[in-house]
Amino acid sequence: MAAAAQLAHGGAPVTVFEASRVLGGRARRVETERTRLDNGLHILLGAYKETLRLIELVKEPGDPPGLLRLPLELTIHPVFRLRTAPLPAPLHLLSALLRAQGLGLGDRFAAVRFMAWARRSKFRLAGDMNVAQLLRSKRQPEKVSRFLWNPLCVSALNTPPSQASAKIFLNVLRDSLNGSRADSDLLLPTLDFSALFPDRAARFVESHGGNVRLGVTVDAIERKDDGFALAVEGEYFRHVILAVSPHRAGALLAPYTELAPIARMIDQFTYQPIYSVYLQYGREARLPFRMGGMETGYSQWLFDRGQLCGQHGLIGVVISASGAHQGLAHDDLARAVHAELAENFPALGEPLWHQVIAEKRATFSCTPGLLRPDNLTPVAGLYLAGDYTASDYPATIESAVRSGIRAANLILQNA
Ligand SMILES: Cc1cc2nc3c(=O)[nH]c(=O)nc-3n(C[C@H](O)[C@H](O)[C@H](O)COP(=O)(O)OP(=O)(O)OC[C@H]3O[C@@H](n4cnc5c(N)ncnc54)[C@H](O)[C@@H]3O)c2cc1C
Repeated sequence: MAAAAQLAHGGAPVTVFEASRVLGGRARRVETERTRLDNGLHILLGAYKETLRLIELVKEPGDPPGLLRLPLELTIHPVFRLRTAPLPAPLHLLSALLRAQGLGLGDRFAAVRFMAWARRSKFRLAGDMNVAQLLRSKRQPEKVSRFLWNPLCVSALNTPPSQASAKIFLNVLRDSLNGSRADSDLLLPTLDFSALFPDRAARFVESHGGNVRLGVTVDAIERKDDGFALAVEGEYFRHVILAVSPHRAGALLAPYTELAPIARMIDQFTYQPIYSVYLQYGREARLPFRMGGMETGYSQWLFDRGQLCGQHGLIGVVISASGAHQGLAHDDLARAVHAELAENFPALGEPLWHQVIAEKRATFSCTPGLLRPDNLTPVAGLYLAGDYTASDYPATIESAVRSGIRAANLILQNA
């Protein structure tokens, strides 16, 4: 939808084919009998410049903002708290690290030392390694890694530190923690993710002469003399942006022998899951924060959807990357998560219902030296877009949006 909005903005007639009846892909609304959920509890960062620009582009007067902007605050209940101060960068971060609750003085200086080294190195590494190796080589104390760097790594790269690319991790730190104070802000959605961008982008595309066809799966991209044929016979397109998730791209690329190297590259990807556990408590139930982490157990990040989206008593729990939780049946996982919440926040009471949404291939594993394909392919007129194409970012909304914009710009430049 980022590609479509960018093309529509550039004056190109766009048609979007979306297999699902709901726009948004891995960041979409899920309607259940009881309420409206998201398939995953997403957050954005102030550094997600292109995503925020497009959200503004497609917004109409009167649309609610849909995002709550908060200064960066990392809470790992009940042991750690870091909060940026209202000071110009980089003092906002320096003071946050030096005043972090739950770390000893030596730990805090070690964290500052790490950021100072990263700044001096321009957030670059000569060769790649995993994040755990980088943290060891920079003598980061166990507590600093456990409370600060590891949670940041798992949330941003959705890959355990022992497997995650240190280069990509440094890129995320460069743009979020080392940018302006606004870049490090957290943006928490107050709407579901389909409503926040893709539904509005569809309205924008259609008001610019394009169309968005839901529930239409493209099974093949056939090359014709005058372009490409997709889902509908007799309809041709001069350019196609294939914007599906990487594990769906292979089958559509397979008929093109010249795309075999790209298909092989994508074939090398492995994937990491993200589980979202929703627990509905009584309407009065609330957490002491809108979003915060947990120190032990399965639960990593908790979202109070009452405080965020007006869904009172609904707590969403995120479990990123692979782990022991994958061995549990969904009901057992929900019970285990409730037990963790009950121990820490007894006033929540008993849940009225629960729902677990497991995205088994939430993102590709962001490992050292991973090769990712370019937007431009050897087939003239056929482009790739998505969070997995070549970029210095892990699989995020921002990498997907930037990729869509790049693919759209390639078409606009050639039109
Ligand atoms: C649970 C979860 C939590 C996450 N949390 C965060 C977060 O907090 N912050 C963040 O930045 N990122 C997060 N991410 C990552 C982010 O959601 C993805 O990186 C991003 O949505 C990928 O977008 P995409 O357009 O590349 O692919 P997708 O979102 O997968 O979109 C591909 C689209 O193609 C459609 N499609 C597939 N095949 C066909 C076909 N043959 N014909 C027609 N249509 C087809 C699909 O239905 C889908 O709509 C999370 C992901 C998950 C799963």
